[in-house]
Order: sequence, then structure tokens, then C-alpha cells
Amino acid sequence: MYLASPDSPAFYHETIKGHGLKSTPQRLAIYNAVSGLKTHPSADEVYRIVSGLYTSISFDTVNRTLLKFAEIGLIAFAESVSGVRRFEPDLQVHHHLHCVKCGAITDFNNPEFDALEAPPDIRRRFMVLSTKVSLTGICAGCAKKEKHRKQVIRP
Ligand SMILES: [Zn+2]
Ligand SMILES: [Zn+2]
Repeated sequence: MYLASPDSPAFYHETIKGHGLKSTPQRLAIYNAVSGLKTHPSADEVYRIVSGLYTSISFDTVNRTLLKFAEIGLIAFAESVSGVRRFEPDLQVHHHLHCVKCGAITDFNNPEFDALEAPPDIRRRFMVLSTKVSLTGICAGCAKKEKHRKQVIRP
């Protein structure tokens, strides 16, 4: 059986079809919005983009579609610190930079992090299925704004 690698249009179509769903233009637009935004968007952000293309689409439809996509393994959830659910389009091993100021979650790859092993005492009580490193901090854009703000305040 041919299996398309995640993150390809073929992967979208195969996964959708494999779960007995139809690929509607709206569904494809929702998928494209999640994979196109490199910040691991919330349902709200996806809705803002897709409703620009399909003005009659409701937030509820977008949200339900995203949850369905996650259920069938087309996308995943990204960790969130704000309590707002974030979606992850990239199913390959990768790691995250999480900006605490603007909330952007940016991907990065690092073979050393990929190879990280949990300590033995953890492995005895927890079966590790995957390892994802999430670095929390301040992104370059926010750091710049912060610097600018300080300069403005300074007498
Ligand atoms: Zn930021
Ligand atoms: Zn990611």
C-alpha cells in the first residue's frame, strides 16, 4: 500500500478518504490554513482565514472540522500554555519554540533533541512514545518590540 508522507496533499486526501470523509473545498481550506500558518493556530485563527474565503462558514464548523482532523490523525494538538487549544499540522518528529508574549509556537529540528532519552527511573514507570522538546521564551519579534517599548519609556 502506498502511504504518502505527512504534510503532503496526498496525505490529506488519503487520510480523509481512508476515514470515509469527503474532501470539500471548505475542508481543504481548513487543512491548508492549519498547515500554512506556521504558528500552530487556534480554531479562532483558522476561522478568521477560512471565513475570508467562505463567508458563510461558521466558527462551529471550523472547530468541529479541526477536531475531526485531529481524531483521524490528519493533524495533532500542540501543547498550549494559555488554555486555548492549538493545532499541530506537522506529524514528523520536531520541537517547539513557544513565545510567552505573542503565543506563537515555532517549529525547529534538532537531531540531538530527537535522540534524547528519558531517565531510566522515568522509563520504568512511563512508556515513552515520543519526545518533544518545548522551549519557552521570547521570540525575536517580541524582543524587538520590548526593546523599542523600553526606549520609548526612557526619559
Ligand atoms: Zn513573540
Ligand atoms: Zn509543531
